[in-house]
Amino acid sequence: MLFPTHLLVAVGVGRLAGHQRVRRRLPSTPTLSAWWLVVGAALPDVVDKPLGTLGVVDTYHSVGHSLLLVPLAVALAVRYRRGLAVTVGWGSHLALDAFHVVANGRASDALFLAWPALTRSDPLAIPPGEFARFYAGSPSFYVELGLWLAAVVVVLRSQSAADRRDGKKGGRRDGREGDR
Ligand SMILES: [Zn+2]
Repeated sequence: MLFPTHLLVAVGVGRLAGHQRVRRRLPSTPTLSAWWLVVGAALPDVVDKPLGTLGVVDTYHSVGHSLLLVPLAVALAVRYRRGLAVTVGWGSHLALDAFHVVANGRASDALFLAWPALTRSDPLAIPPGEFARFYAGSPSFYVELGLWLAAVVVVLRSQSAADRRDGKKGGRRDGREGDR
């Protein structure tokens, strides 16, 4: 998946965890800091893309995208609330990347999760810029597009709800003034 979509989903997870309805139904759900979720979601690419670009490893999905880090991630999540947010963000990145290759009919590429025990070269070895061209128009690309559209709808809806609230307040104020 494209880098900005990982960040978008992390923000979405943070909003969902803090949503009134979720809090009412599942009060024990921990609230997660959107900032640390985003840090966690950025981490795999921030670590692995430079490693791939510099030629340290021959793929753009290596240590940051590996399930090898699960023990560390769980330890952080158990100890610290911020660590939990980072772990959830990181996990969402891995899940989305795995979803992407499966949705695009390349399920065997999900083996990147087992790096370095198992490695695949192509097309995860395509540099990020070229990858975007290769990726556009694939099924997973349309899922990403849908996620962005959904985010736009959520933002617009919350904005118009806020406008309506302001409008009502303004209307009442006008009414009171009219009574005087
Ligand atoms: Zn990734």
